[in-house]
Amino acid sequence: MPNAYRGRFAPSPTGPLHFGSLLSAVASYLDARQQQGTWLIRLEDVDGTRCQDSFQQAILDTLASYHLISDEDIVRQSDRQSLYQHFLEQLITSNLAYPCQCTRASLKANSGLHPNQCQCDMNHPHSWRAFCEVGRYEYCDPIQGKQYFDISQPSNHPVLKRKDGYFSYQLAVVVDDHLQRISHIVRGADLLDTTGQQLWLYQQFGWQAPVMMHLPLIVNEFGDKISKQNHAKAIPNGERQVLLRVLYYLGFKDAPRDYSLLQLLSWATEHWQPTQLSQANLALLDTDQHLI
Ligand code: GLU
Repeated sequence: MPNAYRGRFAPSPTGPLHFGSLLSAVASYLDARQQQGTWLIRLEDVDGTRCQDSFQQAILDTLASYHLISDEDIVRQSDRQSLYQHFLEQLITSNLAYPCQCTRASLKANSGLHPNQCQCDMNHPHSWRAFCEVGRYEYCDPIQGKQYFDISQPSNHPVLKRKDGYFSYQLAVVVDDHLQRISHIVRGADLLDTTGQQLWLYQQFGWQAPVMMHLPLIVNEFGDKISKQNHAKAIPNGERQVLLRVLYYLGFKDAPRDYSLLQLLSWATEHWQPTQLSQANLALLDTDQHLI
């Protein structure tokens, strides 16, 4: 019987792969391989205004240059609009989603609170929001420990489908993780805040949520996380120094420096102990590494 562990790395192709993304990719790969599980790549190109085909290819090429190759065909969110629409309609039918035309300015004028049910003119462009009346969740992240979320406040009701017609990350990621039978998610702690909204969606659909593990973030010398928004640099393809640096931030201070990329991956798989990482390990990237 195949192992039930199914992990994934799910980049949004809004820029080339940067150091922080490679870190998540390697960590999710090591976790899956250590459990003799399946590891998938999914391209989260749901936001058609920000994603580009050229970045998709660059990301896949960079991952492949580090021997990170999906065990199954790569799913692209842009091909799955009708699926997301189907699940959105389920929520609408159950009164768990409502149309909304609020703008940032109108929310601000309402003390930042989003009215539960908007007086929405359905003939005009509007988004769909989740109606999370019951929204308190507690869960234990294997790295970050106990987490509490309260998304019942109207200002926290997530958008499921945007006014411009694109589905939101929140809806797409939950539908895809469920349909792809993902059992374990390993990703950066910058996505920790979104977990409550995702748990809400799992609950409404009656689906089992995967184990979600959030890696400590790597920050630059100003304390900012490495991200495309902060103009993080694209990482070079297939360089041992880069993989050694990734492994260093994943807690491997003594990885053999003369190993090939493949040898390093299998060595790290054997020694992977994610629960020893903690938020206290929040690392500062040396500026002389030129990775950011
Ligand atoms: N696509 C998301 C990103 O690139 C990651 C989604 C996830 O791992 O849940 O930030």
